[in-house]
Amino acid sequence: MTHPYTEGLAAGVVRYQCCAACGAWQPLTRLACRACGGADLHWKDASGSATVFAVTEVSRAPTDAFRELAPYTLVLATLDEGPRVMAHAAPGVRIGDRVRASFMPFGDGTLLRFL
Ligand SMILES: [Zn+2]
Repeated sequence: MTHPYTEGLAAGVVRYQCCAACGAWQPLTRLACRACGGADLHWKDASGSATVFAVTEVSRAPTDAFRELAPYTLVLATLDEGPRVMAHAAPGVRIGDRVRASFMPFGDGTLLRFL
């Protein structure tokens, strides 16, 4: 199963959904624009620059696959283009830090990791 967002990560780019009619960015994946209701949504490449909005340390991984990474840092980061994404991050990042996207192969996929 593929998705434009995960395909983007594999290609080394953070993608977000955007409305063709009014240009509004969309949180997550939507079928209609949150601003104008338009159904013509397409995917754009973000610059990869973001600001850390929230940080948490995960010491007990949710799955066996993630256990090898623990403890690890997760963040919610606001892309410069507006959407907020969840991602891994370097240990020690703080709320308000400016970060850049990097892409970490993991299992069959790619994880977004801000540095
Ligand atoms: Zn719109």
